Amino acid sequence: MQQYPQPLERLISELKKLPGVGRVSAERFAFYLLNQETEQVRRLSQALVQVKERIHPCAQCFNYAEEQLCPVCSDPKRDRSLICVVSHPQELLKLERTHDYRGLYHVLGGLLSPINDVHPEDLRIAELLQRLKSEQVREVILALDPVVEGEATGMYLARAIKPLGIQVSQIAYGVPVGRDLAFADELTLSRALQGRVPI
Ligand SMILES: [Zn+2]
Repeated sequence: MQQYPQPLERLISELKKLPGVGRVSAERFAFYLLNQETEQVRRLSQALVQVKERIHPCAQCFNYAEEQLCPVCSDPKRDRSLICVVSHPQELLKLERTHDYRGLYHVLGGLLSPINDVHPEDLRIAELLQRLKSEQVREVILALDPVVEGEATGMYLARAIKPLGIQVSQIAYGVPVGRDLAFADELTLSRALQGRVPI
């Protein structure tokens, strides 16, 4: 089989490592980049390196941060008595975009999953409990994926947090806004019924 020149093969094999990118897409990206101005490709490569060099976990909540603390933790206007627990920073950023939540966060770094060898000590649970003991927190809100691992993680956290005299709540799971009820699956509908609120 005719091989591409070595630098091109190398780029394709690196691009193939990205999630959802197979050989065909990797080749498409590689040829696209090859046809760009050198300056444009240099900007992309600098952006790739900078994201690794300049972004690290926030010392308090493990959100993405450029300084020691992330923008949420360093904002004096946030309600420090509320902590919302998420598994990854992406979910935190989604919640932030709603502009409805004014408390702090804690990023676990995943969900408990004994089958995949993810145990409490692999997540930032000890760090969360330490925060709860040293700060004046009145409520912990769990915003974890509604999957088996999310539920197991939520139950584990609730058991660990309640003895500290702190309220633990969970976000309601419901029907996607703007969609017909008929399109929602049964589990989603059943969760939406359980999480109903008076109007
Ligand atoms: Zn933070």
